[in-house]
Amino acid sequence: MRLDVVTIFPDYLEPLNVSLVGKARARGQLDVRVHDLREWAHDKHNTVDDTPYGGGPGMVMKPEPWGEALDAVIASGEGRPTIVVPTPSGKPFTQALAVELSEKPWLVFTPARYEGIDRRVIEEYGDRLDVREVSIGDYVLAGGEAPVLVMVEAIARLLPGVLGNAESHRDDSFAPGAMADLLEGPVYTKPPQWRDRGIPDVLLSGHHGKIARWRRDEAFRRTTANRPDLIERADPAAFDKKDREM
Ligand code: SAM
Repeated sequence: MRLDVVTIFPDYLEPLNVSLVGKARARGQLDVRVHDLREWAHDKHNTVDDTPYGGGPGMVMKPEPWGEALDAVIASGEGRPTIVVPTPSGKPFTQALAVELSEKPWLVFTPARYEGIDRRVIEEYGDRLDVREVSIGDYVLAGGEAPVLVMVEAIARLLPGVLGNAESHRDDSFAPGAMADLLEGPVYTKPPQWRDRGIPDVLLSGHHGKIARWRRDEAFRRTTANRPDLIERADPAAFDKKDREM
């Protein structure tokens, strides 16, 4: 998969060199290219922002540098990328969207600063490419670089061969399949006794059926406590008789 990021803070994307994403890059599973938007700003101060039409506080990112940058990035590859525009006014970034984006061959991220990018840029590329405006949550950050790090990590770990154990994301919170719509329950490791705390007996029983049932019950309990909205939204057919008794 190819990932391009256009930003005025290329250094902010340094974490893409470490851990899971860094290893995927080193193995050639991810081709990540970070570009400095200011390379496409031509005045002596490399200006990328200006005051908003209609007045108001803050600055808006100018369309010309973004247009030149995106044209150059798009022309540098084969085919048509999906453009991902981080913005608090976008559609929520969910595990389902991470799965969908992980199946695309090429993503271009456009993290903004200030009050965001001149609207005409989104419209211009939206007319000819798949453009997704995406929010990572109901809060406002100073820039889109942290959202890009969040999205790239969620997407990269879904790519074949990126996680050491391909099963690792099977039971994740929000994963499709048996645990769909439920958050993952608690997890434990050795030692069996830590301070005055043990671990649930069932996990030492070796009984796979009972362990699976316990995990599902815990997932159901945690979801009911922390995210009742997920239970309300879920397809009732996703729950069995035992769930409904909880
Ligand atoms: N005035 C904008 C608004 O209220 O929608 C906020 C702009 S914010 C200060 C600057 C940039 O940070 C945004 O254009 C976007 O790239 C990024 N950003 C901030 N919060 C975000 C979020 N929750 N999800 C995705 N991107 C976000």
